[in-house]
Amino acid sequence: MSNTALSASSPPPIAEAAEHLRAGRLVGFPTETVYGLGGDATSDRAVARIFDAKERPRFNPLIIHLPDLEAARKLVEFTPEARRLADLFWPGPLTLVLPRRADCRVSLLASAGLDTLAVRVPGHPLAQALLRAFARPIATPSANRSGRVSPTLAEHVRSELGDRVALVLDGGPCRVGIESTVLDLSRELPTLLRPGGVAQEALEGVLGPIASAPNVEDSIARPSPGMLASHYAPSIPVRLEALAPTPDEAWLGFGAVPPGIRAPDLQLSESGDPIEAAARLFAALRSLDRPPFTRIAVMPIPEAGLGAAINDRLRRAAAPRPGA
Ligand code: AMP
Ligand code: MG
Repeated sequence: MSNTALSASSPPPIAEAAEHLRAGRLVGFPTETVYGLGGDATSDRAVARIFDAKERPRFNPLIIHLPDLEAARKLVEFTPEARRLADLFWPGPLTLVLPRRADCRVSLLASAGLDTLAVRVPGHPLAQALLRAFARPIATPSANRSGRVSPTLAEHVRSELGDRVALVLDGGPCRVGIESTVLDLSRELPTLLRPGGVAQEALEGVLGPIASAPNVEDSIARPSPGMLASHYAPSIPVRLEALAPTPDEAWLGFGAVPPGIRAPDLQLSESGDPIEAAARLFAALRSLDRPPFTRIAVMPIPEAGLGAAINDRLRRAAAPRPGA
């Protein structure tokens, strides 16, 4: 497979990049903020590969990139204020967090099981060309390994991710060079989750005062009442490292089931593949979170690769919850 960052002077291989995305592979591409690592947002598998390629220790939600407002409206519920911001700042470095529509086709893994989705319309011509050629939403975090700085040149993407990307579209240096501003409009008060390419003052000029989340990763990762969307964790308890289920437990499998133990109600991955397991994780938790089950028992999952992120999520789901 070619892992080429083509020079900015040759015509950009947009069709080839879209073909890679269609095949579930990952593509590096420029946006006006930083270079992104794109995958088919409607494919659990492609989204799991993004987390794997970045070596993310946990499943934090990804920004879904779209060609225009029309495409975004198919995925999330727009409020009048969201509409005004989109009209003013899109295409551009502004990400809006809005409630997922019931018929939203985006992978649950891409929003880490949340019932909100972060959407953005980038203005970079290559990003626009790719989004239109692919004609599906593209899940796109920055194209760096976890914990490293965001790439602003195609060469950075290649040195960060090597052959984990099928192709890198080279658009030269990114204009803005810092990430998009992330504004959460799904809460009671508009809340700034991450400062970025659109200034807070510019948003306040439209909305009036907006709140800031004291610590974004914290407020997303740890549900605090009224702050977080529901469906982040199952409503029934979760038991980890289970070697056998009790009769009233849902039995979530990973790899081969020990002899004499009943077959799992659902398998994350029969072959013990963490990428496959990650792809199925959120849908599996949702589907087992129902009567007659009173708890979900999960077979042990080794920490290797995406196993660490899967266990991180399961541990949070298993932790005692206030009021529960
Ligand atoms: P990156 O993956 O580096 O582009 O960062 C994406 C940012 O958007 C992170 O700060 C995420 O936590 C935030 N984000 C994405 N989706 C959501 C969501 N549904 N709710 C809250 N924050 C989100
Ligand atoms: Mg990043």
